[in-house]
Amino acid sequence: MRKPLVAANWKMNKNLNEVLDFAGEFSRKLPHGSVAKVDIVICPAFTHLAALTANSVLPGGVVVGGQDSHWEEKGAFTGCISPVMLKDLRVRYVIVGHSERRQYFSESSNMLAGKLTATLKAGLIPIFCVGEKLEERQTGRTFKVLEEQMTEALQFVPKELASDSSRFILAYEPVWAIGTGQNATPGQAQEAHKHLRGLLAWLWGAETAGQIRILYGGSVTPDNFAAIMACPDVDGGLVGGASLDAERFVKLIEIAAAR
Ligand code: PEP
Repeated sequence: MRKPLVAANWKMNKNLNEVLDFAGEFSRKLPHGSVAKVDIVICPAFTHLAALTANSVLPGGVVVGGQDSHWEEKGAFTGCISPVMLKDLRVRYVIVGHSERRQYFSESSNMLAGKLTATLKAGLIPIFCVGEKLEERQTGRTFKVLEEQMTEALQFVPKELASDSSRFILAYEPVWAIGTGQNATPGQAQEAHKHLRGLLAWLWGAETAGQIRILYGGSVTPDNFAAIMACPDVDGGLVGGASLDAERFVKLIEIAAAR
């Protein structure tokens, strides 16, 4: 049985006061015992990581992730943050290959392979994002695009690092569903997740593939999440907009816990 995971991706949102207000409300509203049923990750902007990992700001067991990380440990990369630096801040997860990074920062599969390897070497857990664009879906190329994104990045990641199922999270995020209010239907999500699990089995074997958690991301809300979570290959959510509000984020966690 795969434990559900719900991760918040706050992108470039919230100032420090808003972060602390969220943490207070979230701590009050999160039902006792939630972390035993669901792994909960919050990915704020880099500048707010330390505020959230400070003692007792978040409920015990709720952990923090970075939204990106570099492929080197250190060096002349102005403006960048390395996985080792994230580790110093008690960060546990790193989002790798979000479509906004691919689109606006031209992140290639080669870079993503480096980022995945560096993340894993630092002992952090990558949440690796893949997903097709609208035009790719409309022209029947969804599976092909997923295959390319998976194999191009993962073939360069040392198998012994990535194939520990508890240390690797995959996220299916159809680009057309991110921030648009148009989520994938449960049928579309299940079909894609099943295909991704098959690709994981091809890469790392059926046993590992059966244990790796695959999150769905793309306009998740408390209204649509239960139906998506009911899909057998969906193990949680990577949530943007709906995670910015503590009450809505708690509702999503409760839905995941009820599965
Ligand atoms: C995301 O940014 O990963 C995301 C899924 O955003 P949203 O939930 O707002 O669609």
